[in-house]
Amino acid sequence: MPTNITIKENIAQTRERITAAEKKFNRAAGSVALLAVSKRQPASAILMAHEQQQFHFGENYLQEALNKIDALQDQPIIWHYIGAIQSNKTRPIAVHFDWVHSVSNLKIATRLSSQRPKTLSDLNICLQFNVCDESSKSGASCGELSILAAEIAALPRIKLRGLMAIPQKATTFAQQRTIFHAVQQAQQHLIDTGHPLDTLSLGMSADLEAAIAEGSTMVRIGTAIFGPRKTAP
Ligand SMILES: *Cc1c(COP(=O)(O)O)cnc(C)c1O
Repeated sequence: MPTNITIKENIAQTRERITAAEKKFNRAAGSVALLAVSKRQPASAILMAHEQQQFHFGENYLQEALNKIDALQDQPIIWHYIGAIQSNKTRPIAVHFDWVHSVSNLKIATRLSSQRPKTLSDLNICLQFNVCDESSKSGASCGELSILAAEIAALPRIKLRGLMAIPQKATTFAQQRTIFHAVQQAQQHLIDTGHPLDTLSLGMSADLEAAIAEGSTMVRIGTAIFGPRKTAP
């Protein structure tokens, strides 16, 4: 279990990495947000990170996430769902989260749209994008992307904010950048065809610098903040 001290130090170090990368790659100061990925970590660890003025938290496993959201309901935390989505489990996501990064098809988007309570603000959506030569991961491919973005942008109560990608592990910095660049190009294509996107959800603990070099506006960091995760129950 991570301690208060390690989480405090890890968050400070992660913020320094982000700031250094913003400087190095000529990105505006403060243009890259930190999403703390708290999957497989207890609510107490989230609270420790929250005490360091961390507001955005990402979760992958729905039931585990709902328990933590309930336990921390008095905190002004912004919850991001970044895990795989089963279509019969969209309602609790639409009700309890502020963001969903892992939308990969129209069926899921339509369900989230119709299930988003009218009393809440629009649900922020990122389309999960497959870098084009990868077919294994769930996510939209290049050809599907423009059509899907247009269909999703037309739905009520959800707001298309940008793309998210989880590329295959690349070994060198140059390889990491090449893959992230393809995602940034796809995002730029959508912007050029009329979508007012402002979020590129790209980069994890091992490759956040390359992601920031290629335009990421939100890095999703788990291990570097909380340390190693417990394995699945
Ligand atoms: C687990 C996870 C992360 C965080 O990964 P780390 O390597 O622990 O930083 C980021 N994004 C997604 C989609 C994840 O599932």
